[in-house]
Amino acid sequence: MSDTIKIAYLYEDLMNTYGDSGDVKILAFLLKEQGYDTQVDNISLDDEFNAFDYDFLFWGGGQDFEQTVVAKDLVRHRQTIQDYIEAGKPMLCICGGYQFLGKYYETVGGDTIQCLDILPFHTVFKADSRMIGDTEYQTEWGTVRAFENHSGRTYFDDKKKLKPLGKMIQGYGNNPEDKAEGMRYKNTIGSYSHGPILKNENIARAIANEIIQSHNDRLAQTN
Ligand code: GLN
Repeated sequence: MSDTIKIAYLYEDLMNTYGDSGDVKILAFLLKEQGYDTQVDNISLDDEFNAFDYDFLFWGGGQDFEQTVVAKDLVRHRQTIQDYIEAGKPMLCICGGYQFLGKYYETVGGDTIQCLDILPFHTVFKADSRMIGDTEYQTEWGTVRAFENHSGRTYFDDKKKLKPLGKMIQGYGNNPEDKAEGMRYKNTIGSYSHGPILKNENIARAIANEIIQSHNDRLAQTN
């Protein structure tokens, strides 16, 4: 029996743009308040990984070069990440990490990076603009304020299966047309929000509670 919550931070050393590792620090703080220590494992190139050894998966944003490097490694983990998501376990993916759950991502340099193809969306590049600035959007957990900086424009291929995380008040979110930010599927959240997003306390507390539930379920299964 252990009260240590286990978090896998996917490619932490390569994907952590604009303060995204702050999300994990905020969660560790909130979990500590509720009596739990947190262990964060960096799952990086060539590491073995079984998603079900963890209570929460986190994936931060990345620059195109790092995403190209990571893309070659992550195919090994496709099945375990898909099974984890389908089991309804909690995961938060930011920007480049979010893009990796979809079908493909077109870089500024004109390359198409094959992504995990776990969820039905894709991300394209258009020459005329990069989406940079403050964002504000309405979610189930209230208004979220954050920061975005991405060239990728994400479009859902199955709008029944995927729901947006929020409705834009300010900024771009997934793309300039849909007025929607991020993605929800079961207990997986994808978002373009840095800042980090979990400085927004309501959503941070909701995710912390999901993590505790996930932890209790994992212990119940292993005992
Ligand atoms: N490189 C990706 C893009 O520009 C993701 C950026 C990010 O993760 N901050 O769209």
